[in-house]
Amino acid sequence: MPLYAVASGDGSVATGLRGNRHISATSGVAATKSQHRRDPRATMGKRIGASMSAMSAASILVVEDEPSIAEAVRARLVSEGFRADVLGDGPAAVARCEIDPPDLVVLDLMLPGMDGLEVCRVIQRRAPIPVLMLTARTDEADKIAGFAVGADDYLTKPFSMRELIYRIRAILRRAERSRGGDDAGEVVERGSLAVDPARRRVTTGGAEVTLTPIEFDILLTLAREPGVVYNREKLMDTVWGYVDATGGRVVDSHVARLRRKLAEANPDDTPVRTVHGVGYAFRDE
Ligand code: CA
Repeated sequence: MPLYAVASGDGSVATGLRGNRHISATSGVAATKSQHRRDPRATMGKRIGASMSAMSAASILVVEDEPSIAEAVRARLVSEGFRADVLGDGPAAVARCEIDPPDLVVLDLMLPGMDGLEVCRVIQRRAPIPVLMLTARTDEADKIAGFAVGADDYLTKPFSMRELIYRIRAILRRAERSRGGDDAGEVVERGSLAVDPARRRVTTGGAEVTLTPIEFDILLTLAREPGVVYNREKLMDTVWGYVDATGGRVVDSHVARLRRKLAEANPDDTPVRTVHGVGYAFRDE
């Protein structure tokens, strides 16, 4: 009967019997070492170390001019196993993203030199970088303006560190899914529109449409089920992987931008419909 479990150096867990001279056949650790390994603090330390090293690939750039917030966010990110750098103004953030693009940017809206909206617009020019916007403003107009320039999500100050980490992980998971092509499948063809999940390409009436990863995922989700109405919560849950406290209002601005891009590329076909008071649906065929 296993009475305890210990983490071995490679993060795997071995079980052993109390009093048994050998901890496990695979690790080959002698009894004297196993005694040490039973120390719960040592075990915990190894577990944390293993999970941290697994996530350390994600680098987060925090752009925030308020030193206390910047430091609190940086410290929490590091404790969660991320690599984190802090910059205090917009031009520095733009320069950094050009030289060494991070996996995600936590971007304050009000910054000296260049505000968060402009930073977001500029850093997205070459390739999409996931952006989580921080805003002290609460009115909806500012939030929507934020998404019009390509931010994936936002948090209104004051926010909890737990919520921040939760959203960052969700955004990174989605970005990973986009890169890995896990979503790959058949090309979805609906009239003049073609959505290719493997290549992450969209064409309408023969014209290619450049979408952000979120816009692409929204279109793919809707186009796979023509006529099915997705309310905001369901769409946010499917695409973002969670639903926020506002009940998915963030969805509206992304859908608006997606529709505008599709209409610009092909004014004859506007496939994403608003179902007033309910949500969104791809046109029925
Ligand atoms: Ca600020």
